Amino acid sequence: MKEVLIVGSGVSAWSAAIVFAKKNIKVRVLSKNDEVFGAQQLSPSGFNYLNELIDKNFVKKNVEKILQVKITSINKNKFTVLTNFNLQEKFNTYNSISRRVLIKLLKESAQKNNNIKVINEKANFLLKKNAQSIQVLTCKGNILESDLIIGADGQNGICRKYVCGSDKKNLKKIFRLVIEDNKLHILSKNLLQIFLSDKGHFVVYPFNINNKKFVNYVFVPNKSFEEISNSNNIPQYHPLIKVSGWKMSLINKNTEIKNNFWKNNLLLFGDAAFPIEPHLAQGGNQIFKDAVFLKKNLTKSNKIEDIVQKFLDERIEEKISLQNKASIFGKILGFQNILSLSRNLFISKYSKKFINDFFEPIWNNNVDS
Ligand SMILES: Cc1cc2nc3c(=O)[nH]c(=O)nc-3n(C[C@H](O)[C@H](O)[C@H](O)COP(=O)(O)OP(=O)(O)OC[C@H]3O[C@@H](n4cnc5c(N)ncnc54)[C@H](O)[C@@H]3O)c2cc1C
Repeated sequence: MKEVLIVGSGVSAWSAAIVFAKKNIKVRVLSKNDEVFGAQQLSPSGFNYLNELIDKNFVKKNVEKILQVKITSINKNKFTVLTNFNLQEKFNTYNSISRRVLIKLLKESAQKNNNIKVINEKANFLLKKNAQSIQVLTCKGNILESDLIIGADGQNGICRKYVCGSDKKNLKKIFRLVIEDNKLHILSKNLLQIFLSDKGHFVVYPFNINNKKFVNYVFVPNKSFEEISNSNNIPQYHPLIKVSGWKMSLINKNTEIKNNFWKNNLLLFGDAAFPIEPHLAQGGNQIFKDAVFLKKNLTKSNKIEDIVQKFLDERIEEKISLQNKASIFGKILGFQNILSLSRNLFISKYSKKFINDFFEPIWNNNVDS
């Protein structure tokens, strides 16, 4: 393989670009500019993999440390702290980072390599050239082809559709909000907070961009409440977060998801390949792990069949297990009535063991590079 064409310009596109370019393969990135919003959590393994892709100092300068997970239940304006789990004992590099900054860091790092060329055109269609390969038709009418095409255009992009067909849509509402505020930032400093209510759960954590301080909020409505929840009524559900400006997005639930990730010379990467529900905050972290895995295996062979086989042998099982765990964890967070009481009791009694046992293999799981 001498050249690669990457469709997309998010976390997975730039991570893949970095890896291929370092192996002296020519990379063209078809980039469509999108607005990027909010922050994401970097679990310890994700943080380590990211450090293998870009300069450690850049990462260090732009992350914010999360030292504790605090889970609180809210019942009729009454707050009960169920657990205050200290991450430092086992997970001492849990962090958050602005998504915009993250993509900027990856992109800048990728573009330092002369093997990379950016084409600011959207991929409009994939055309079948012959039995083995496809071409990409861009919005400017250019037809591009390459030995290998990486589909890194997200879970609703044209590449996933080409490989997997249309996923049966099973969408769930999720709401996000970002506030720039020093006082709120101080109140949530070093904390990953989860508030469980009968309407849904909130996830709150701080992040920064340069010296500006932000707090990232997520609200996931419970099943019976999803229908009527909208961006305007979220402030009523949490006595302390009476702020408007929530943005709604629709996420794909992992039921009946198709796990094909290649067809002809098109290999899917990132969310396009393995969408994961957001409840474990692993989508992005897994991309870094995949990129490091790719880096390691490209050294041995850069044939598409070999790369695919390696992913099948060594990564698929973990991906499917994560998809299932994320889905189950989301359901538990969304328990209502009697089930929520049992869940809360369980958290207050066993959270330390649960977090260690359940999250240890997910958060501390490193590959050799
Ligand atoms: C608000 C938010 C918070 C998150 N929090 C976490 C977290 O805490 N921890 C975690 O690990 N993960 C988190 N995730 C998930 C993680 O960010 C995603 O898994 C990751 O961003 C997926 O990256 P991607 O590049 O595969 O796909 P996407 O981010 O969907 O990017 C796809 C890219 O392809 C481009 N594109 C689409 N179509 C075309 C086309 N036709 N031609 C050219 N380009 C195209 C788009 O412009 C975009 O740049 C979060 C995601 C969101 C949205």
